[in-house]
Amino acid sequence: MPEIALTKQIAERFKDYFDAEPALWHSSIGEKKKKNIWKGVSENKIKLVLGARSSIFLPFQNLKLIVIDEEHDSSYKQEEGVSYNARDMSILRASIEKFPILLISATPSIESYYNSKNKKYFYVSLTERYKNISLPNIEIVDLINAPADKGKFISNQLIPKLKKIIKEKQQVLFFLNRRGHSTYIMCYECKKRLVCPNCSIGLVFHQTSKKAICHYCDYKTSLTQKCTNNKDCEFTFYGLGIERVFEEVQLIFPEIKIQIFSSDSINNNKNSEQIINDIEKNKIPILVGTQLISKGFHFPSLNYIVVINSDTNFLGSDIRASEKNFQLLQQLSGRAGREENKAKVFLQTNDPNNKILHSLSNSDPKVFYEEELLFRERAYLPPFSKLVSIIVSGANQFEVEKISKKLKQSFLLQEKIKIYGPVTAPIFKIRGKYRMRLLLKYDVSLFPQKFIKNWLDMNIVSKNIKLEVDVDPVSFL
Ligand SMILES: [Zn+2]
Ligand SMILES: [Zn+2]
Ligand SMILES: [Zn+2]
Repeated sequence: MPEIALTKQIAERFKDYFDAEPALWHSSIGEKKKKNIWKGVSENKIKLVLGARSSIFLPFQNLKLIVIDEEHDSSYKQEEGVSYNARDMSILRASIEKFPILLISATPSIESYYNSKNKKYFYVSLTERYKNISLPNIEIVDLINAPADKGKFISNQLIPKLKKIIKEKQQVLFFLNRRGHSTYIMCYECKKRLVCPNCSIGLVFHQTSKKAICHYCDYKTSLTQKCTNNKDCEFTFYGLGIERVFEEVQLIFPEIKIQIFSSDSINNNKNSEQIINDIEKNKIPILVGTQLISKGFHFPSLNYIVVINSDTNFLGSDIRASEKNFQLLQQLSGRAGREENKAKVFLQTNDPNNKILHSLSNSDPKVFYEEELLFRERAYLPPFSKLVSIIVSGANQFEVEKISKKLKQSFLLQEKIKIYGPVTAPIFKIRGKYRMRLLLKYDVSLFPQKFIKNWLDMNIVSKNIKLEVDVDPVSFL
C-alpha cells in the first residue's frame, strides 16, 4: 500500500471479504509490534501482511504472491537514505523467486502500461466499475471567462451551483494539492520574505498553529518578528494553500461543517479514524482536501468534487508532470460517485484546451497513454530511455560546485550514455546542504552500473560531500 492512512480501511475490508486478519506493517507502528511481526513472518506463522513500502524487506520464508495496490503511486519510491522503489524491488523479488505479482491501478504508470502493451506484463482489465456505476461527469470551469473574485479562488459561476448541491444534502470535496495556508510570506515594511534558513524555499503559513513552517525540514517560526523602528513586522500572504481554500469555503458556507483532509491534519491526528468514519457516514458535508484524499479512500456519499487548480504547470517542472496530473485527476474523479450515478467533477483551469482535461472526459483513457508515449518516444524519455540522477550535496557551496564539475570532466564520453549538467538543483539548499545535479540518460538495452561505479570511484570525494545515485529517479527537485 502506498499510504499509511489507508491501511486501516483496507484491513477492515480484508476482514469482511476473506475473514482473515492481516498483520499491519508501516513506519508508525511501535517497536514491540514490529518485533512480533518480524518474528511471526520469519517463522512463517504470519501468512498475510498489509504493509507500506518497507514491508518488502520482511523475512518471508515462503512468499507466494505480492499485490501492489495503486502501483503508479510515486510514494513507493523511497528517496531518503538508501533510495529504492518498493514496486520495482517487488517485481524483481517475484521474478527471482518465481511467483506472481499483481500491479493494480485504475491509472497505471506509463512504464507499466508500456510493459503490458509489449506483452512483458499480462494485462487484465475490469470492464465494469464497482457496483456498475458510471464515471462522474467532468465539467471544465474556464477561469478566464468565469473568474473568481479578486483574491479569491472559486469561480463566481460555480458558487450558485455549489449552494444548490449543498442544499440538497450532498457531500462536496474542494481539492487543492498544496498543504498549508500561504506559500509566500512577505513584510513590505522591511522587505523581508520568510524563507527557511536551512532550505532555499519559502516557509508555508499554517493557520491552525499560527506558525510558518518549512515542508522539507520542519523548521518552524512565529510571525512575531522585529521590523524596522522596533515595530513588529506586518506580513502579507500570497500563494494558495489548502487552509486558504478552507477559509474561502467557510465564507461561502458559514453554517456548514467543513473538514480539512491533508497529511498535516490526518496522518498525525489521534481523531483521524473518527474523522474518516464521519466522512463515510456523511456527517461532514464539505471536505477540503489535498492529494491524500485521492489515494483509494472510499467515501460513499461523495458525489461532487471541485478541483481548485487543474493545470499541469501547478505541479512544477518534472518529466512526468503530465502523467502525474492525469493520474491525480483521474484518481480523484474516481472518489466521486462511488454509490450513485449523478456524480460530477468541476475542473477549474486557466488552460481550458489542455489535452489532459479533455482526455479525462474521454471514456477511453488509452488516448492519453498513447499520446504521452508518443511524446516520450520523441523526447527519448523513459520508458524509451533510462535515467540516473547523481546528486552532489554538502555544506560548502564551493566544494559542491567543484566536485560536480570534476565529475563531469572525468566522465568518459561515449555514444550510448549521455551526461547532462551539473546544474544547481531546483531546491538548491535542503537542511543546510547545497545541492547540484547531474543526469545520465542511456539506452534501455544497457546495464551501465559497473561503468557508473568505476567513474564515481575515480573521483575520490571528500568526507564533507555526499554523493547520491538515484536510478530511475521519480523526483527531480
Ligand atoms: Zn504543512
Ligand atoms: Zn527547511
Ligand atoms: Zn518587517
